[in-house]
Amino acid sequence: MSAPVILWFRDDLRLTDHAALHAAIATKQPVVLVYVLDETGPFPPGGAARWWLHHSLTSLMRDIERRDGRLILRRGPAVDVIPSLVGETGASAVFTGGMTDPHARETDRLVAAALAPRDVAFHRMRTATLFGPTQVRTKAGGPFGVYTPFSRACLELPPPREPLPTPSALPTAPAVASDVLASWALCPTKPDWAGGLRQSWSPGEHGALERLARFLSGPAVHYAERRDIPAGENTSLLSPHLRFGEISTNQIYHAAAGRPDSRKFIQELLWREFSHHLLWHHPTLPDQPLRADFAGMKWREDPEALKAWRRGRTGVPIVDAGMRQLWETGWMHNRVRMIVASFLVKHLLIDWRQGQAWFWDTLVDADLANNAASWQWVAGCGADAAPFFRIFNPVLQGQKFDPDGAYVRRYVPELAHMPSAHIHAPWQAGGPPPLVDLAIGRERALSAFAGMRGKGPPS
Ligand code: FAD
Repeated sequence: MSAPVILWFRDDLRLTDHAALHAAIATKQPVVLVYVLDETGPFPPGGAARWWLHHSLTSLMRDIERRDGRLILRRGPAVDVIPSLVGETGASAVFTGGMTDPHARETDRLVAAALAPRDVAFHRMRTATLFGPTQVRTKAGGPFGVYTPFSRACLELPPPREPLPTPSALPTAPAVASDVLASWALCPTKPDWAGGLRQSWSPGEHGALERLARFLSGPAVHYAERRDIPAGENTSLLSPHLRFGEISTNQIYHAAAGRPDSRKFIQELLWREFSHHLLWHHPTLPDQPLRADFAGMKWREDPEALKAWRRGRTGVPIVDAGMRQLWETGWMHNRVRMIVASFLVKHLLIDWRQGQAWFWDTLVDADLANNAASWQWVAGCGADAAPFFRIFNPVLQGQKFDPDGAYVRRYVPELAHMPSAHIHAPWQAGGPPPLVDLAIGRERALSAFAGMRGKGPPS
């Protein structure tokens, strides 16, 4: 039997349209399929993502076994695990998906360096984005820092390739030891807080395809008009499936493109591309403000306020509804993410990295690039960010996007019978005051911003 090759699954837990798997099978050598749980980087998966990962791997293993293959599970630093698996199996090459996460990129560099002297090729292929991180370039040949010209440049490139087929069989490789998934203890037990997640989601490639079909036959038609309305299902809910690569952006792009209603939706997919482009070109995106002047920002330390925000107990209805939706389902509507993030960073003047960390732990779609780029965008310190002095008023945002309060009523049951006229500001009807007076919080944010820049905010 010829030497096998290794297919190393990363954030691409699927069999369809998997460029690296496709290339590995095309060698006509047996394929060793492996997933490595590497928790050594600065951003190991948070609680909700670990829950998702468990179910996503369960689904992938089932699909592989149906094709007479086997997924090998190993836990540990991938820089050690992959070279040792090469040793155990006598593999002649490793195929894997390319990642924009800086830790994963460094891991790839070290693995490739360890394999090169053994004459083992390391092939990194694009499996997670529509375009390669260096494929989209400004006229001067550099990376983009602003979304609109970036998205225009994407649309001027030849369209992303058609999805690759699902392999019907997986050439068997010699047996090697595998961990048992349950031994990784990815699901919470004491306590088991994942009930809401189980009710809300079906992780895995089949769940992703069902979600896409459901979106295209329903919300897609009104996406442009309704995507900002958090009550009901008005967006695709594909983000966790995309985060784990259970479906590719190529598949989604080709299913949506050509439909008369798809323009706005494709623009959102390009926001994801833009975040990954930013992370590739600015590996410090999750830690450092892109705008250097923000390094001097005087954030407040306020553990009690941070706790109230996390628990959805700020007294601001739309903020509390969003934070409780997050806790219950592991997901929050995009408009509400912007509102809760702005409230934390501006009205409470708490460092965006604290909010980013909570989202990282609680979102099933926690994605290093999207999360960091979005938090920087809201905080005003990102490349193409809303200016800091533009401060969302959560009451007006609630009235505009949740006019009858259906979303607030769903997640903040104590306000369920509040009349619509007061649902977004119950204190105006004699209810308890919010954690921070919105006008005072706004002024405090503006003067902190002015202090950081050494001058007053633009009027
Ligand atoms: P749809 O509206 O159906 O959009 C389709 C896909 O496009 C999404 O699945 C997503 O992959 C992409 N997309 C949509 N909006 C955005 C956006 N603004 N930025 C980047 N990509 C986008 N998204 C994540 O996937 N992971 C995160 O960790 C994350 N953190 C965020 C933090 C903050 C503070 C904010 C404001 C936004 C964050 N987002 C994040 C972006 C966005 O909120 C989610 O992608 C979106 O709500 C997912 O829902 P959907 O799949 O129904 O989106």
